[in-house]
Amino acid sequence: MTPERYAKIRRVLSLRQPTLSVLMDEVNKPHNLSAILRTCDAVGVMGAHAVPPKNGGVPTFGATSGSADKWVEVTTHTDALSAVQTLQAQGFQVLATHLSEASVDYRVPDYTRPTCVLLGAEKWGVSSEAAQAADANIVVPMMGMVQSLNVSVAAAVILFEAQRQRLEAGMYATPQLTGEALERLTFEWAYPELAGLYRERGEAYPALGEEGEVLSLA
Ligand code: SAM
Repeated sequence: MTPERYAKIRRVLSLRQPTLSVLMDEVNKPHNLSAILRTCDAVGVMGAHAVPPKNGGVPTFGATSGSADKWVEVTTHTDALSAVQTLQAQGFQVLATHLSEASVDYRVPDYTRPTCVLLGAEKWGVSSEAAQAADANIVVPMMGMVQSLNVSVAAAVILFEAQRQRLEAGMYATPQLTGEALERLTFEWAYPELAGLYRERGEAYPALGEEGEVLSLA
């Protein structure tokens, strides 16, 4: 662990936005999953959600997301409707990306609120039950001949609008993670194998020095 690497981990974690997330509903192409997770990492999403595709033969999320899945944890759910309800119970507004005339422009919602963007499968989009259960349906206006964007492109457009609003609101200026989470994740990102050993033993992580050095090993 170099001091520079440690400083980068601290800086990135201090920009993380635990109240911004995505829910991928049966997004099945590995390159799309990977691209969405990279965008999540870029805007500071702490954890993403996914309903794995049910049509089989699809690589796991961990195997397909390149290195972004190291920095954005993916929680899986069995179906989109229960995932939407779980996120709403946690205080998130769920914004379903839905290509319908009733949907509002993606720039209208307030993304400084705890927000999860629901993204649909490449072939059939977001299921109608999940779209109905969502707090709002949003769309990136399309003015060309083609009906829809690639799902990872839509995710990027929307997440960077969320980043824009949150920057304006000063939400990247002070850490959004609690002090406890910031310290815990710093150790886990800096020393993933050691962190695993401490967890196995049920012991607290050791303290780190100013440059990221482990101060005492149990
Ligand atoms: N035929 C599908 C439909 O009608 O929803 C098209 C699915 S589209 C290729 C895959 C996903 O990309 C959508 O479910 C949505 O999450 C996202 N998406 C694509 N274009 C979008 C747009 N213009 N606005 C918002 N989301 C979009």
